[in-house]
Amino acid sequence: MKDTVTIVTGGSQGIGRAIAEFLAHKGGDIAIFDVIDGDETIAAVRNMGRKCMFCRVDVADLQAVGEAVDNVVKEMGKISNLINNAGITSDRLLLRMKEEDWDRVIQVNLKGVFSCTKAVIRHMLKTGGSIVNISSIAGVMGNAGQANYAASKAGIIGFTKSVAREYGERGIRVNAIAPGFIKTKMTDALDDKTKEEMSRAIPLKRLGEPVDIAYLAYFLISGYGSYITGEVINVNGGLYM
Ligand code: NAD
Repeated sequence: MKDTVTIVTGGSQGIGRAIAEFLAHKGGDIAIFDVIDGDETIAAVRNMGRKCMFCRVDVADLQAVGEAVDNVVKEMGKISNLINNAGITSDRLLLRMKEEDWDRVIQVNLKGVFSCTKAVIRHMLKTGGSIVNISSIAGVMGNAGQANYAASKAGIIGFTKSVAREYGERGIRVNAIAPGFIKTKMTDALDDKTKEEMSRAIPLKRLGEPVDIAYLAYFLISGYGSYITGEVINVNGGLYM
């Protein structure tokens, strides 16, 4: 990861934070795009002697994302990798789902991936690069109460494969990770009974840790993943196989 610059969207907490910290641990510099403060991630990355830039930007805002990406290139010299990780939920059964629940989840989770990828690809055309999109088990197998979220995450899979086909010849690899249930603020919202039931249903008998996703993100963007593109890799303790 030496001499690499990776943008991690939603890097202030949860899975994004674990990815940013693990990549820094491996020697890479980081730029975080988030709508909330990322002080803990920034401090952790800098404590490892790596550079960390923070951009307060809504990934769904195409113009703001373009400006933020240009700033990263100006300040850090290049963009080697992009981790499209920012995401939200707004769960309801379909009959109760409001238009705004649908629109906002699609805007952040799917349009956000479009905005960030489009903005970095321009720079990666000259240098090559690697993009990892964080989809979800919900996008692969569906989930009651998450029609909006599952649609956004399934959309990411089609997007990943299309962009991998478009830019493979330019040395740009694009892959997706579909995490199962990972312990973060997003899953804290579930009650204890649901978490227990979930753990029982998982062959490995536990929820995942954010770093379980970080290990694979590192593998994919590093030289170890150099012949992998257009893939969707499940990391879910065997819940879906
Ligand atoms: P989280 O809520 O802990 O972190 C999400 C981060 O994204 C936060 O820092 C948040 O501020 C940021 N974010 C939200 N909206 C944004 C926006 N418009 N612009 C920029 N940043 C924004 O969630 P997490 O569990 O760490 O999830 C990270 C990703 O992994 C998400 O895409 C999520 O859908 C996906 N995922 C999570 C799980 C899980 O079990 N936790 C499972 C499958 C997929």
